[in-house]
Amino acid sequence: MFFTSNTKMQFKDIPGHQKIKTFLAHSAHEGRVAHAQLFWEKEGYGGLALALAYAQYIFCEHRSETDSCGECPSCKKVSRLTHPDLHFSYPVVRLTGKAAAPISTDFIKIWREVMIANPFTGVFDWLQTLDIGNKQGNITVRECQEIIRKLKLKSFEASSRILIMWLPEYLGVAGNVLLKLIEEPPPDTLIILVSDEPDQILATILSRTQLVKINPPADDDIADYLINHYQLDRQSALQIARLADGNMQAAIKMVHEESGEMETLFRNWMNICYRFKTKDMVVWVDEMAAMGREKQKNLLLYAIHYLRESLALPYTGNENVKLLETEKKGAAFLSNVLNFDHYNQLADLFDKAHYYIERNANPKILFLNLSMDLSHVLRKTRTI
Ligand SMILES: [Zn+2]
Repeated sequence: MFFTSNTKMQFKDIPGHQKIKTFLAHSAHEGRVAHAQLFWEKEGYGGLALALAYAQYIFCEHRSETDSCGECPSCKKVSRLTHPDLHFSYPVVRLTGKAAAPISTDFIKIWREVMIANPFTGVFDWLQTLDIGNKQGNITVRECQEIIRKLKLKSFEASSRILIMWLPEYLGVAGNVLLKLIEEPPPDTLIILVSDEPDQILATILSRTQLVKINPPADDDIADYLINHYQLDRQSALQIARLADGNMQAAIKMVHEESGEMETLFRNWMNICYRFKTKDMVVWVDEMAAMGREKQKNLLLYAIHYLRESLALPYTGNENVKLLETEKKGAAFLSNVLNFDHYNQLADLFDKAHYYIERNANPKILFLNLSMDLSHVLRKTRTI
């Protein structure tokens, strides 16, 4: 369970939306791309991710009939959001002390970071990341003029240019500046608007775009995504998918909350074992036994994952290790005190416990026994 640090931008990496993917790929393949399109979705359905995969498909040097290759230089640049012919526009806020109205490129670094980590991010979280207090986000007149200027330039590498505007509802009346551009973009220019609330967009803009209606991804598709990206078991993944109701952003948040809970459980447990507090140990075991088999199995899988990543930490480095920021501290501590032999013994204990839990072992006896064994290994590492 970890943040995906290198989200890919191919169609196949986005859960659901098969019909739209086929439609987009097919129209690009046939060279019949409408020059201004409005992706109409609800937050978290994956509109921005689809727009990115679409842009990657259009620019790809070795695309198939259904998807980009994901490997060519163009694909790599799109997936890093650095392709020089792919422009972005999104709501931003005025920075304190700056006289000029803000434009999207002022925030491009943080935009790349946030959207690469999670292209399903919603506007609330995006604006929170900009640390704005109570300021409103918007897309300014100056930004619109900047877009017009950029799209007049020749394309750099690709044969066309693409502008993805995320949340055009934040344009307000500034949108009037763009009317002519949207009605008649320069040659070989594609404008994709991705909107959560099309009824907030100027009617004059709406009427100039081709509408692409995006439905929520199915529960099964969301569950598959969570299983592949966050190593959840099917039952928990489906449960989260149902609660998320098509909103991938909400689903990913729930995964992180669950993994935060695992982290706390695991950390308390290791503390108790390390200090060999038998009273606390019995209380902890009783609580764990009451949690049900799925959660018990998840904790043991989490323990194995955590251990493996902390063993790898000195070799892979902080950047590549598959742990949350909060987990890295504990992992660094473990990798300092445990030697390879300790790791093996602990991994073996967790692995066996998982095996017996799956075969209906009594959880109270199993977790108490396991805690004693863990204490034994952990205490061998104590130097005080
Ligand atoms: Zn490619």
